[in-house]
Amino acid sequence: MNKLIINVLCAFLFSTVAFSQTINDLINKVSLDSLVKTVNEFSGEVPTVVNGNTVTISSRISNNNDVAADYIKQKFQQFDNLTITDQVYSANGRNIIATQIGKTNPNDIYIVCAHYDSVTSYCADDNASGTATVLEIARILSAQCLDNTIVYALWDEEENGLLGANYYATQASNNGANILGVLNIDMMAYDGNNDNNFDIDVLPIANSIAMKDDLLNVLSTHGFNLVVNVVNPGTEYSDHSRFWNNGYSAVLVGESWATSDRTPHYHLPTDRIQYFNLPYYHELAKFIFAYMVTKGGLVNVDNTITTSGSTLTANQSSATYQWYNCDTDMAISGATNQSYAPTFNGTFAVEVTSGTCTERSECTLFNTLGLSSFNSDDIILYPNPVENELKIELKVGGEVTMSLFNISGKLIVTHTLQQRKNSINLKDVPSGVYFVNIRTSQKTGTYKIVKE
Ligand SMILES: [Zn+2]
Repeated sequence: MNKLIINVLCAFLFSTVAFSQTINDLINKVSLDSLVKTVNEFSGEVPTVVNGNTVTISSRISNNNDVAADYIKQKFQQFDNLTITDQVYSANGRNIIATQIGKTNPNDIYIVCAHYDSVTSYCADDNASGTATVLEIARILSAQCLDNTIVYALWDEEENGLLGANYYATQASNNGANILGVLNIDMMAYDGNNDNNFDIDVLPIANSIAMKDDLLNVLSTHGFNLVVNVVNPGTEYSDHSRFWNNGYSAVLVGESWATSDRTPHYHLPTDRIQYFNLPYYHELAKFIFAYMVTKGGLVNVDNTITTSGSTLTANQSSATYQWYNCDTDMAISGATNQSYAPTFNGTFAVEVTSGTCTERSECTLFNTLGLSSFNSDDIILYPNPVENELKIELKVGGEVTMSLFNISGKLIVTHTLQQRKNSINLKDVPSGVYFVNIRTSQKTGTYKIVKE
């Protein structure tokens, strides 16, 4: 009876389909750790490595900010699907721009941008905060196929009169570029009174008002913990106004000048990350990301995998495929069909190319090859339902690994178990149904538990 239940559970677990990523899944990838790391490096709080040299970015003043520009360029180079333009437009002027071409409407362009130059040292809020957010959005979105083109732009010489953005916007207008919206970020990490207020600055030029309305829709759809002030007529004292000058739709998003809650360290060398309101900064970055992914439009390519018995199958049909061994990040020679039967236990991914879109799946655990089931008294799990501590008692030898999956088959955590008695802390795991897979080199078993 026990064995039957376990087999049924195995069949359930290993045929579970993970769903393709939604906008919400992607919003949750916006990482505060990643933002903070970039701000610390970019505002000179900690050293970093640029072009193979350990450096501290101690200045971003425009006549001395090439290391900062190189840092941005190097970040973009780490991401897929981006074409990088190192736009030198004068002796001291240098924009760094990355373009992700839309798969459906390559000529429909949305821009997310920030200036990276500064007036003095540090200048974390003005505008390492916006620079780090543009880089974070690029990190996540560049892994997705999008309908429309996204331009990630970091401007130079904003502080000298919006020169970098002016150069780009004028050129774009002369070339007839179909820019549908420009979201400029300038100072976005200060909230001194914790009221979560932020500003959208707008003017009735082109479709800027409709763009503001789209932003308000995204704000309410995803329930961000933010309070908006629409400022109309909005300020012209940042890069978005150069797009207004050229007849394009544009807005500024940032901390709240409207409620007089902008950083008191404005244009001072005391503008440092220690004065950031980090939860506020994170929320505002997620909001801007949500707008960009909504406007980008996720191409519906299913990059998920179904595991059934000894076979992995890509859920996208009528595509071309390449399977990867995730442990080595190498393509598996000859593994180019929709299904793949691994010859060893490990983690695997598939790269799916459908039309002009190529996406790689997340890595999937495959561990059922040549394994038999445990005896019913080999493994005891209790209590079940469990509140905090799950006890696992073992009567098996060798190295024992435990993996916890949620009901969608997503791997939550993996532990190496001790012989005999183990206690697993599930305090931070949300309540619900989970599956515990336990395996040695010879045996495997999967057990359903309920977390209260
Ligand atoms: Zn600024």
